Amino acid sequence: MDELKQLTVDSIRAGLRAKRFSARELAQEALRVGEAENGGSGVYLSLTPERALAAADRVDAELAAGEEIGPLAGVPLAVKDVIMTRGEKTTCASRALEHFVAPYDATAVERVERAGAVIVGKTNCDEFAMGSSNENSAFFPVRNPAAPDRVPGGSSGGSAAAVAGGYAPISLGSDTGGSIRQPASFCGAVGIMPTYGRVSRYGLVAFASSLDHIGPFSRTVKDSALLLGTIAGPDPLDSTAASAPVPDYAGELTAQVRGLKIGIPKEYYGEGLESAVGAKVQAGVELLRSLGCEPVEISLPHTRYAIASYYLICTAEASSNLARYDGVRYSRRSESSGTLRDMYRNSRAEAFGPEVTRRIILGTYVLSSGYYDAYYRKAQEVRALIARDFAEAFETVDAIVTPVSPFPAFKLGEKTSDPLQMYLSDIYTITGSLAGIAGMSVPCGETPEGLPVGLQILTNHFQEKTMLNLGHAFEQAGGFEG
Ligand code: GLN
Repeated sequence: MDELKQLTVDSIRAGLRAKRFSARELAQEALRVGEAENGGSGVYLSLTPERALAAADRVDAELAAGEEIGPLAGVPLAVKDVIMTRGEKTTCASRALEHFVAPYDATAVERVERAGAVIVGKTNCDEFAMGSSNENSAFFPVRNPAAPDRVPGGSSGGSAAAVAGGYAPISLGSDTGGSIRQPASFCGAVGIMPTYGRVSRYGLVAFASSLDHIGPFSRTVKDSALLLGTIAGPDPLDSTAASAPVPDYAGELTAQVRGLKIGIPKEYYGEGLESAVGAKVQAGVELLRSLGCEPVEISLPHTRYAIASYYLICTAEASSNLARYDGVRYSRRSESSGTLRDMYRNSRAEAFGPEVTRRIILGTYVLSSGYYDAYYRKAQEVRALIARDFAEAFETVDAIVTPVSPFPAFKLGEKTSDPLQMYLSDIYTITGSLAGIAGMSVPCGETPEGLPVGLQILTNHFQEKTMLNLGHAFEQAGGFEG
């Protein structure tokens, strides 16, 4: 069965019904590919064979009994290793949690399994989701399926590469400042950051709680719509999960986008944008115009303060969230500890890699008395201004279209020595994160070197339907070939 690379949720459903394969055979194939190819790609941190086969057998039994099967029945799905899967390792790609076994399922995990999905493994990522290249994994990096000497993006690099590289048709990732959209664009997958609160964060290991989201990756917009519809909605276990009703995203998908006004923010098309990426994105905008959309130039004037604001807020929240990994309540305890003080100090020093350490120190600093007003509070004020920029823009436009990243996938090791260069990867994605709105990356062709480029579509809070329709129309019109 070499079809795994091409399969979508619909084609799996059809194949299962026609008995061309069973859910067990499909799960076995996904596990085989995961096992055989991981040495080269680094996509998975662990596989979950028992869980996968048990889930697949349930689907096969339902089919044999002529029962109704769930919307994701039999579909192999990979889960980023910052999302809890009961009884399975959940390491956050950190030495701190190298042997940690999750005691419960994330709500998103429970919902995909209830819909019949078959979780085949936990994907590699940057440590605690901090990074833009997957090189901050404590274990090994991920290679980009389109160019193995290049990064897949981050932090959800494994989940993006799993989908783009043919390991599983769909996966779950997390996005705090771009960690779904940027790797989706680097690998040539569809990736969605839903509106903040659209998907429960219960069971997502916290990095920056006011910015963290769980979201889908897939090969087609329709599959992301299906996966989003499955995981979205209120959850008594997460008070920030919104009660807004969940539309039938996949069922109501239409390629009819005529008349939609598309904002083109001038701040996203200037200095720093590589011309090969800019050219693809401009061609994408023209394709949308040919579908009847009306592009209009807009301004989001506070964009230039976004990186500074984001890296103050996310580090402040991270320093607080990661305080729990102290070798006592969570994370591995250092063996070389004479006094209690040494035990805390050594446990934390041994647990975290350099990027996580840098963020904890920076975040602790900006929250400390004397610096709080100068840094943390200012950053929050800037965040409010960025949100206001978007609110004003959405008074006149239905969606905003931009590049996802200023450059395509870069070479492994190219930016590791310069954190600021790495942070620039997020320049077009963190604004939407700070505003709490919805965003997606949809494939938009390749650079002359053959590297995937993503088009970012942003819509206002809970306007995922418009975003998905635009992405779907773009994909149907061949936007990825452009
Ligand atoms: N690359 C960004 C960072 O390093 C975003 C990470 C994320 O979205 N989890 O913080």
